[in-house]
Amino acid sequence: MATPIEQLGRDALAAKGFFGAYKWLILRRIVQAAIIALFIIGPVGGVWVLKGNLAGSWLFETVPMVEPFVFLQMLAAGMFGFLTTTLLGVAVVVAFYALIGGRAYCAWVCPVNVITDAAAWVRRRLGIAQSAKISPQTRFWMLGAALVLAALSGQLAYELVNPVSIVHRGLIYGMGAAGWLVVAGIFLFDVVVTKHGWCSHVCPMGAMYSLIGAPALVKVRTPNREQCDDCMECFEVCPEPKILPPALRQGMRQGLPAVVSSSLCTRCGRCVDICSKDVFAFGFLTTGKAKPGEAGENAPGKKDGELKKAS
Ligand code: SF4
Ligand code: SF4
Repeated sequence: MATPIEQLGRDALAAKGFFGAYKWLILRRIVQAAIIALFIIGPVGGVWVLKGNLAGSWLFETVPMVEPFVFLQMLAAGMFGFLTTTLLGVAVVVAFYALIGGRAYCAWVCPVNVITDAAAWVRRRLGIAQSAKISPQTRFWMLGAALVLAALSGQLAYELVNPVSIVHRGLIYGMGAAGWLVVAGIFLFDVVVTKHGWCSHVCPMGAMYSLIGAPALVKVRTPNREQCDDCMECFEVCPEPKILPPALRQGMRQGLPAVVSSSLCTRCGRCVDICSKDVFAFGFLTTGKAKPGEAGENAPGKKDGELKKAS
């Protein structure tokens, strides 16, 4: 039975304790803060672990890293005068995210994620259930539009308004009025207009990373999905809830593998944290087989949807 929204996460807390119920969230916040700190301690303290910014940087002044979305815009804009190290930098980043899941960038690196997670939390607290209809495919159209814009302008035009770049620069060099406007705009968009509005519907970088991450080896698996009690808490916290049913009871009945196979999964781990039955776990690519007896099981399933307010 669906958990009333006021009780979201309580079963996990009771079953696993605070760290068990927030482990991946805490680790993500540590990694996100550490990445920003590593960019800052170079100019401030002369310790160059990461030099540059998210668009292009050096790791230990040796390994180049170039943002693939920026590189695609460069190609579209006809900026072919790049160095071999740029190609190497793109290859390093693409290989890394192709291995661990492209949208891990969203949950573990992108500074905008903190804003959108905060908006989702506020939305839940305020009990806002309505959402404007925006197709999740919009982000892929945005990706195409950014490239067309680059081709027409001969510039990295989208980068002038890219919230990821703006917020990242703001965190390193100080947030000006434009930065705060972007932060407020995304926050309000996610709270008022659409649930998980920016990241799961609009952001072209998220779209790009989902394409890169299609072959990823690191997956969220559902080894204990027969334990699922349909509380729906994972649907509530997952930024891409439509990807869950094939990994849960619906997939079990159809004999689908016990894994979240969609490349839209951000590897945020919120489903792992919030499930008191330990249905989810991080793992490597599964063999792709349902457990014996799972396929065709006549178990009750639930459709994707929001948790109900307690009456
Ligand atoms: S979808 Fe875009 S803004 Fe959201 S976390 Fe991913 S890259 Fe950042
Ligand atoms: S399936 Fe789990 S790890 Fe993937 S996006 Fe949803 S909550 Fe995050």
